[in-house]
Amino acid sequence: MAHFVIVGAGECGARAAFALREKGFDGDITLIGAEALHPYERPPLSKETLAEQPEPKFVASAERYGEQRIALRLGTHAAGIDPAAKLVRLSDGQVLGYDKLLLATGASARPFPGSAGVGGNIRVLRTHADASALRSALRPGRHIAIIGGGFIGLELAATARKLGADVTLVEGLPRILKRGVPEEIAAIVAQRHRDEGVDIRCNVRIAGIEDRAEGAAIHLSGGEAISADLVLVGIGALPNVALAEEAGLAIDNGVAVNEHLEASVADILAAGDCCSFPLALYGGRRVRLESWRNAQEQGTLAAANLLGERASISAVPWFWSDQYDLTLQIAGLADGAATTLKRDLGDGAFILFHLDEAGRLLAASGIGRGNAVARDIRLAEMLIAARAHPDPQALAASHVKLKSLLAA
Ligand SMILES: Cc1cc2nc3c(=O)[nH]c(=O)nc-3n(C[C@H](O)[C@H](O)[C@H](O)COP(=O)(O)OP(=O)(O)OC[C@H]3O[C@@H](n4cnc5c(N)ncnc54)[C@H](O)[C@@H]3O)c2cc1C
Repeated sequence: MAHFVIVGAGECGARAAFALREKGFDGDITLIGAEALHPYERPPLSKETLAEQPEPKFVASAERYGEQRIALRLGTHAAGIDPAAKLVRLSDGQVLGYDKLLLATGASARPFPGSAGVGGNIRVLRTHADASALRSALRPGRHIAIIGGGFIGLELAATARKLGADVTLVEGLPRILKRGVPEEIAAIVAQRHRDEGVDIRCNVRIAGIEDRAEGAAIHLSGGEAISADLVLVGIGALPNVALAEEAGLAIDNGVAVNEHLEASVADILAAGDCCSFPLALYGGRRVRLESWRNAQEQGTLAAANLLGERASISAVPWFWSDQYDLTLQIAGLADGAATTLKRDLGDGAFILFHLDEAGRLLAASGIGRGNAVARDIRLAEMLIAARAHPDPQALAASHVKLKSLLAA
């Protein structure tokens, strides 16, 4: 009987395991996860998990794995792969043979350069254990200093304010959300944080960080020190590629896979945050996405391709972030856009459409309260997928339904 091994029991690996069964695979499935917990969702870690619900939000109940005959090896690290002999060596010394192998090893929080890593009062936020360690610092009278004005840092800032902690956020670039978020939207997010009492400082140069017996400090290059009860380093994530690299797989900002998620070595696929892939929709440009929906979609696609379907990646990149009552959604990739058009949706909500020189819709970025932009971003996504060249005037005119542009 065929044996498929999946390394990485996160969103992507778990989805792939269930999708194999949904597609009728009857062989053996082993899902190996370094974390002790059953696969859980990471997006709540910077949102509800900290604020309201400390328990992890599991991808599926523990029983479901048994019902679906998915052998879970939790708290176990895949320590080596021998692609010639088709073997995976585990941290407990056991060796598993595989017919097909899926790497869904995800990413890890990027440590602050030169720092020893996580510990004490200097923290990162990637796992449920990280979130649990942060919770005690998020209460009135506490001060948390965040390095990095990206999504993780900003979501944590919003949650910390909600819980009554003081927040200082430092960013090295001239503005927050510089990577992938239009300035007009980033300015609204920044203003909202300031209105909520977050001290945002941009263009900041950090000389070093210091863990102290009580609290921690960020030392700025001008000599000033920002002292806090806790420092959160939120400067991005690095793909977990050590296992693949050691096995001789091609690496290019992640495990390099083709449009079918196949790695450079036979019978090994990679999916989710750990891999980079060519995106046909954008001229075959190689990208790596860190997004919940991408992890799910690629898990499903990997299952199909483990079964030999050789389906291609076609999904439009999509990402969301919740901060206070604001939700931001981005579909597509805006790099290379020549024109930006704005569509007002009322109550402060709006969408920016990004078009290339030929008028093709490349991306749409929206912001509003709750799910104010959700429906129109979904329609924009369909236009992006169709490589549409919508009438610019109609795109910007809020009374023209986006659905009608899709039909056109
Ligand atoms: C705090 C936070 C908030 C987020 N919020 C959003 C959001 O609002 N919107 C959004 O779209 N996305 C969000 N994301 C991103 C989203 O959660 C990720 O893109 C998604 O979890 C990626 O899934 P994955 O399975 O590819 O990787 P991961 O979730 O990283 O899972 C990989 C798993 O593999 C394990 N592993 C690694 N190496 C090995 C090994 N050698 N042996 C065994 N196991 C191994 C890891 O321990 C990990 O459990 C957020 C992420 C974080 C951390």
